[in-house]
Parts: sequence; C-alpha cells; structure tokens
Amino acid sequence: MAPDGSIARPTVLTGPSGVGKGTLVARLRERHPEIWLSVSATTRAPRSGEIDGIHYFFHSKERFNELVQSGGLLEWAEFAGNCYGTPRQPVSERVANGIPVLLEIELEGARQVRKSLPEAIQLFLAPPSVEELEKRIRGRGTEAEEAIQRRLKRAQDELAAQTEFDAVIVNDDLETALAELENKMNLTGT
Ligand code: ADP
Ligand code: 5GP
Repeated sequence: MAPDGSIARPTVLTGPSGVGKGTLVARLRERHPEIWLSVSATTRAPRSGEIDGIHYFFHSKERFNELVQSGGLLEWAEFAGNCYGTPRQPVSERVANGIPVLLEIELEGARQVRKSLPEAIQLFLAPPSVEELEKRIRGRGTEAEEAIQRRLKRAQDELAAQTEFDAVIVNDDLETALAELENKMNLTGT
C-alpha cells in the first residue's frame, strides 16, 4: 500500500540499454523490499554472475516460442537479436493481491502493456546525453562490440519514443533519479 493508503499501481520502467535501469531498480528495492520485480523470460545467454530464475528465466528459442503460443507471456519483444517476455501469471497474481509490481522492459513491451495492463504507470529513464549512454554501456563491459552497436542503434528509437510515457526521469545523479522514481511511484523515501 502506498503512504496515502492507496493501492500501489503497477509500474513499467523503460529506457535504453546502459542508461542505468538495473542499477536504479536495485537501489529502489534496497529501500522498498516490498516491491516485487518481475523476472522475465529471455533467449539471451546469461552474463557472468546471472542466475536462472533470479535475473531471468533463460530459455531456448523453442521453449520461449511455446510460452508465446500458450499465452504465457503478458508481453514479449525482440531486442538486439534476442527475445524477452514477462511471464503473465506471476504478475496477475501480485496485481490481484495488491502487491506493488515493477516491470523493467523495453519499448515494444511497454507499448503492449499499455493495452494489457492499462492501470500501470509508465516511466522512461533517459540518459543525460547520448555520449554518456555510450560511455556507460561500454563501461559496463558485458557486451561485445556488435551487441553494443545494436543496442546503441535501438537506443535512438527508444529515446525518440520517450514522450509516449507518463513521465521521463533523467539518470544523471543516481540518488536524484531514485528520489524522482520514488515520487512517481508514490513511495516515500526512508
Ligand atoms: P541498464 O540496466 O539500463 O542496461 P545498468 O544498470 O547495467 O543499465 O547500468 C549501465 C552502467 O552505467 C553500469 O556500469 C552502471 O554502474 C552505470 N550507471 C548507472 N547509473 C549511473 C549513474 N547515475 N551515473 C553513472 N553511471 C551509472
Ligand atoms: P538485457 O539484455 O540488457 O538484460 O536487456 C535488454 C533489454 O530487454 C532491456 O531494455 C530490458 O529492459 C529489456 N527486457 C528485459 N526483460 C524484458 C521483458 O520481459 N520484456 C521486454 N519487452 N523487454 C525486456
């Protein structure tokens, strides 16, 4: 429940790869452990340190397609050569029980959620500049050059779509962005 007594709205957080979504969400969950973060299904290979069932459900293309065909995903999209999707049932269960739900997903998925979960608030996390975005994605050191190029190319479309969202938060200083996110989600800081 939000501080004013209202039921928390589900939240969608979208933004280009490398902008700092994962970093910001980790900080948010430290301060608000009651928030449930959806674990997505993906055909991407795990990065070093990523654990199946915690960071993602890592699936073969065949298994992912089965999930799509059986209606098991609330939304799904292809991003930089891999498929990503939100398992439907865990989200529905939490929403039905009034648990605050957070989806960290890319643009096409966010667009689908506008139809399937219209009560969700849609937030866009933007970088202070395209140069800084490139610096961050390279600085993270998790992708090969080809994947970096794909992600930066995709970032142009995503940045162009930010006006579709309920609010845009600029991730320049992380703690400032966190305070803004808490504000938009109607959470108090601690
Ligand atoms: P995303 O989940 O959006 O792909 P990450 O959370 O992995 O992005 O962040 C990408 C890189 O940027 C990481 O190395 C992270 O430490 C760094 N980063 C995140 N937020 C900031 C910030 N506000 N200022 C500087 N670097 C940041
Ligand atoms: P990454 O490979 O960096 O973990 O994620 C790549 C992109 O996929 C990010 O923009 C992330 O938000 C998005 N993503 C992660 N899970 C999902 C999902 O379930 N659905 C959609 N549509 N995008 C997702």
